[in-house]
Amino acid sequence: MNHRPIGGRLHPRPLRVVSCPSCSLPQGRNYHACPDCYRAVEAIWLKDWEALLNKEGIRAGQAEERQLAEKVVAELDLHPWTVVDAALTFVTCTACGQEPGGGPLSCEECAMLFGNLWGYDVEAQHQGRMTGNEHALRVGRRVLRHPHRQKPGLVRAWKFSMPILLTGQVPSHEIAAYFKRAIDKAESESFFEIVYQSFEEAYLTHRSSS
Ligand SMILES: [Zn+2]
Ligand SMILES: [Zn+2]
Repeated sequence: MNHRPIGGRLHPRPLRVVSCPSCSLPQGRNYHACPDCYRAVEAIWLKDWEALLNKEGIRAGQAEERQLAEKVVAELDLHPWTVVDAALTFVTCTACGQEPGGGPLSCEECAMLFGNLWGYDVEAQHQGRMTGNEHALRVGRRVLRHPHRQKPGLVRAWKFSMPILLTGQVPSHEIAAYFKRAIDKAESESFFEIVYQSFEEAYLTHRSSS
């Protein structure tokens, strides 16, 4: 089997979690509502998409950009995960007309696409071509981009994680399980507004105050 192409490495990651200048939450948490948080996350994907546009000699906004996206979507396995996800934002689901994977829950094509993308990640990680952090980022972006497809507790969990994921970290299994339980119990929103620099810091603070 061919090696999966590497993605998400062109855009330099922030070294620290910062407060968003627009919404003042940890940057990246407010992906769905705040343009600055949205851009902070999307930059990782856009940098790779722009690199492909440059390689193909296409300028953003040209009709060729959409044609390129259609070509990428027709051969998903040949492209980095970032380029695949970026291409999906230029095309629409043939069944529901929304972004593929982001349509109403009743759209079977969207459900199938959402499920199918992860096989790629499993292979890429197995080949050492994708880190656990990159996989988490990809899942997190998808959940935050299409929150209506997920349970509210899961969306809150990914909102909480995204700013720390942007810095390249991943939680340990133990800490991830702890937060899943805490977030499922709908802990106070104020906890999620605090800027934590790491999952460990959030865990230690939260455990000692609850
Ligand atoms: Zn923001
Ligand atoms: Zn659909």
